Amino acid sequence: MDLVVWIDLMLFLLLFALFIYVFASVTITNLHKVYLVFHFSMMLWPFCQFAIKTTENPMFQLFYVKVAFIDSSMLTTGWLLFTIFLTGKSKFLRMKTSLLLFIPSVLLSLGVITNPYNLFVLPVGGEYIQRIYGPIFWCIIIVMIIYIVTSFYIIYITLVSGNSQRIKNQVQQVFKGIIVMTTFILLDIFFNVILDAYLPVIPGLTSLGILVSAVFFVISIHRDKVLDIVTIAHQDIIDTIAYGILVLDEGETVVEINQSLLPYLNLHIGDRFNMANIVTKGQSDSRMRQFIKTYQDHPLEKIEFEWLHTTIHRYIKLEAAPIMVRGIMVGRIITFQDMTELRSLFDETTLQNDILQERNLMLIGIQNELSQTNRKLKQMAITDSLTGCYNRHYLTQQLEHEVMKNRKSRTPFAIFLLDIDFFKLVNDNYGHLAGDEVICSTVEIIKQTLRENDIFARYGGEEFIVYLPNTTPSEAIPWAERIKDSIELNKVIVENAAHPVSVTISMGLLSMNNDFRTEHTDSPKTYLNDLFESVDKALYQAKKEGRNQIVSILR
Ligand code: GH3
Ligand code: MG
Ligand code: MG
Repeated sequence: MDLVVWIDLMLFLLLFALFIYVFASVTITNLHKVYLVFHFSMMLWPFCQFAIKTTENPMFQLFYVKVAFIDSSMLTTGWLLFTIFLTGKSKFLRMKTSLLLFIPSVLLSLGVITNPYNLFVLPVGGEYIQRIYGPIFWCIIIVMIIYIVTSFYIIYITLVSGNSQRIKNQVQQVFKGIIVMTTFILLDIFFNVILDAYLPVIPGLTSLGILVSAVFFVISIHRDKVLDIVTIAHQDIIDTIAYGILVLDEGETVVEINQSLLPYLNLHIGDRFNMANIVTKGQSDSRMRQFIKTYQDHPLEKIEFEWLHTTIHRYIKLEAAPIMVRGIMVGRIITFQDMTELRSLFDETTLQNDILQERNLMLIGIQNELSQTNRKLKQMAITDSLTGCYNRHYLTQQLEHEVMKNRKSRTPFAIFLLDIDFFKLVNDNYGHLAGDEVICSTVEIIKQTLRENDIFARYGGEEFIVYLPNTTPSEAIPWAERIKDSIELNKVIVENAAHPVSVTISMGLLSMNNDFRTEHTDSPKTYLNDLFESVDKALYQAKKEGRNQIVSILR
């Protein structure tokens, strides 16, 4: 044969190899790839059948016969793979396993290529247009039958098991395709191989079978969008989403129900949907009746309802919305959401919140108690427990500050130091408790005479100090007299005494005029001690001079 013919064939093969390379390397789904390989294989059979008859050269005829049979044995393997992909079972099939499926066809192809001892095919009259098939041919047929039967089986289990409607639709088309093709191949074998001796050759039976089955695929691809990745993705999302999704047509007939909903609703495509049947599986209350009424009377409204489904013991939230196409309602979409976990989470959170709030209140209580105790402690730290007056420590602390301030601002102030006269006798005559009562009563009398800013403190046993800020000597002396007289007039009723007890006091009075500036370098402590010393001396003098009197010092 002319060399030019071979150049064309080589170019064809190179172009084909280029196509295979692009096809295998681009990102399309495996389903696309499987389908294209498969379609090519289908095209090759009729092409070879035609090519055999175009040449008188037995060598070329044999070549085309061989290609046709290698192709058909690959085709059946392709069939099986395509079925596996189409039925969504490809996830069970690893790359290696899918290659293993090709082993029988590869081995048989080797037999076809080598045609040892004409075990595959024998020429009739030196040509291959008429031919006698040997055992390798029958092996190919057997393998084809096994693979086709397996495909049938996979399709069968897909159709009976609860797969999604999309996969079922696809598989139904393929099923028809396989039936048609198998029928034609069997007819071809029957007429042209088995009855070969008795009948003239009927051409193109297998090719016709392949064509018709290819038509089924094309229908399937177009109608069911088998290769449409977005549609597949949408469908997969719908089938795997946790929501239950139900699509109804305008007559309330189920047109789609997703996988999540199947275990809960005994509904199938084509069934009539009845909302009342669904939501009454729970408490029948007026809220539910209102919902059903709105659902029936106002189909254009988007509505929702949540209830406890008593059969499955779960809280379900149902939402119903119309599907509108150019302003006309064509159906409804109803979604179901399991709210049980969300609800229990919500309940749990509310409970925890309540507990926290309770704890918070408790803490606030404790905090109040603590601050109250703190206040008490502070008060206790600065007051005298018997009389409630300030103690000596507090007095000194305050005065250290006060007297210095008064000195700076030249503000007059007075200090009274007073001591109950012959108090030992009270204790001795009436007892210590009576003594306490007399002390307290005396304190009350003094307190009544004082102003808010005056500081009254217990200086020692029955010795007290009064600090009077902003007080001139002319105010201080009558004030001290008033205190002394009120105490003398006070009669304390005590146990164990026939008569009320009354006491007198002696007082040292220090009146600070502060009317001229004195440069003092003493510390406040020393200055205060100096003041206390003076007033103490005055008291001592009052005692010495006969008690029940006031000795005042003016500074
Ligand atoms: P004088 O006129 O010189 O002050 O005579 P007096 O007896 O009052 O002598 P002095 O002030 O030195 O003694 C105070 C007495 O007061 C001594 C002590 O037993 C008594 N006393 C001190 N504190 C308390 C107290 O809290 N309760 C009672 N009941 N007695 C106290
Ligand atoms: Mg005394
Ligand atoms: Mg005393």
